[in-house]
Amino acid sequence: MEIIINPRNAEKTVSFAGEELRRYLARMLDGEEGVFSVFLGIRDGAEDKMDSYTVSVDSAGGRILGSNPRSVLLGVYDYLRRLGCRFLGPGKAMEVVPHIRPGDLPADYARKASFLHRGVCIEGADSAGNVLDFIDWLPKVGYNSFFLQFQVPYAFLARWYHHDLNPFAQPEAFTMAEAEDCCALFAAAMEKRSLLLHKVGHGWTGRVLGCETVDSWNPTETPMPEDKRPLAAEIGGKRDFYMGIPANTNLCLSNPETFRIFADLVTEYAAANPEADYLHVWLADDYNNVCECEKCRQTTVSDQYVALLNEIDRRLTEKHLNTRLVFLLYQELLWPPQRERLHNPDRFVLMFAPISRTFEASYDLSGIQEEIPPYSRNRITLPTSLGQNLAFLRGWQARFQGESFVYDYPLGRAHYGDFGYVGLSRIISQDIRKLRRMGLDGYISCQELRAGMPNMLPNYVMGYTLFDETADVETLIREYYEAAYPEEPQRVLAHMERLSELGSCDYVNGKGPRVNPDIAARMAEIAESCRQQLARGDTPASGLWWRVFRYHNEYILRLSRALEALALGQEEESEARYREFRDLICRAEPEFQPFLDVYRVLEVTQKYTGFPKTGPLHAI
Ligand SMILES: [Zn+2]
Repeated sequence: MEIIINPRNAEKTVSFAGEELRRYLARMLDGEEGVFSVFLGIRDGAEDKMDSYTVSVDSAGGRILGSNPRSVLLGVYDYLRRLGCRFLGPGKAMEVVPHIRPGDLPADYARKASFLHRGVCIEGADSAGNVLDFIDWLPKVGYNSFFLQFQVPYAFLARWYHHDLNPFAQPEAFTMAEAEDCCALFAAAMEKRSLLLHKVGHGWTGRVLGCETVDSWNPTETPMPEDKRPLAAEIGGKRDFYMGIPANTNLCLSNPETFRIFADLVTEYAAANPEADYLHVWLADDYNNVCECEKCRQTTVSDQYVALLNEIDRRLTEKHLNTRLVFLLYQELLWPPQRERLHNPDRFVLMFAPISRTFEASYDLSGIQEEIPPYSRNRITLPTSLGQNLAFLRGWQARFQGESFVYDYPLGRAHYGDFGYVGLSRIISQDIRKLRRMGLDGYISCQELRAGMPNMLPNYVMGYTLFDETADVETLIREYYEAAYPEEPQRVLAHMERLSELGSCDYVNGKGPRVNPDIAARMAEIAESCRQQLARGDTPASGLWWRVFRYHNEYILRLSRALEALALGQEEESEARYREFRDLICRAEPEFQPFLDVYRVLEVTQKYTGFPKTGPLHAI
């Protein structure tokens, strides 16, 4: 079949959308006769940043029109999904592309995104290929944004190339210059798709203190220069790097010099990085370490933060820079400012980060309206209840009515405790469906990019539900399982449902007592369930998802046995079983690299769950 895309010299993303449509249709209609001619373009000639598109084609062709170039691409991918394509994860190998007949081509419908902000933020350990595949996947499942953390996302790439925590892999050299080259590739891949680029976040405070290479949460060996000390927060009478970590060190925000340097740094960065649509301006990534000096005590950190944001806005306006600034409600900054207000709300986006929440339940909107507890300098406790988290959000919303989104973490840590990913996918769906009532315009997921064990269902549900908040999660689950395991979707789903029911995101994330007979019994049941699946030995031998399914059972069998011993208080046994688990995943990483972030699952199970820190693995 001949496929003609018009216009031929379109804007770059529209032109890319055309290439994609041609490529998939040529494959899907291989061997069929006829001509199919499609016009791609912007609807009414006027761009709207809220994504929407209309598809009207018959078996000879028609048009796909979007509200902006990115929407045309989203429309193309959505049309391909209607035709039966399933984008089950990042990378071509995870796609299912069916054969169709010309009679299957007609479609006539319109869709509009439910939310303005729909994205993912990089975490974990990632190769450049992982990041590029993920960027490619985002619009296929309805997302429009990606967040490259720090000034350069060196830490995430270096963790992979250095193979941190995996002694079976040979560390590779990886420099900051290479990370900058990767970053240019990522920005180009995003520009091709007109995705919204978010940058930075943490790291500003370290830079103000003269630490030039703030690219992670690592401690620095360089002492703080004497002339920078007056800029640092005074804690217990001393001004120094907090625990030696620049990214976690707060500033003395009542010092006018601090203000000047901070505002200069952000302005310079915005001018030098015009590709960044959203620049995140956050303070230190730790709490109860804010400045205790006489002057700072007379106000609140949130008031100082808002005053700083106003100063940055003033300078960006002076330089005619349109970069949007994202401010963070998190830790001390959860407490709303008492006196200061943002003067130019259109410049800013509010980001609410309920990092200490549980993932065993969805946002709670039904409960009693909780009060914001009084603020006590360097003696705060983070809210764990979802009701209390929301009380802080309401406090800020009373003072700021601009754009906003939630920054949440179901796939950063929590997911390692849901062994089936079905339960977590349902929580994600429920959370997103409450965003509108919470007064939020979207969701950015701070997460491991390699969150695919047993599969990528959670990100699939997240993307499609952010585009259409009415999307039915059970339909999405069925659609995913039928595409990934066409021979026996029901059997795999029943097993994963069971694993989700018996698992515990909270236990794996260190919440609750470590010795817990109930958890131990559940882990034993999980191990038995995985053993039974492995003993059947009748899974279809071929097929990527079946291969991952088999490996997932091996992985969960070992992890649940280690957790069982831990929850029984059997220290030696749990350590021995944990070593077996580590051995398996470290050895298998080359084969299952895109599905499991070995670095991150080891970090989480050692830092939060309570397994011992791993030294070299040689003597297993
Ligand atoms: Zn101070």
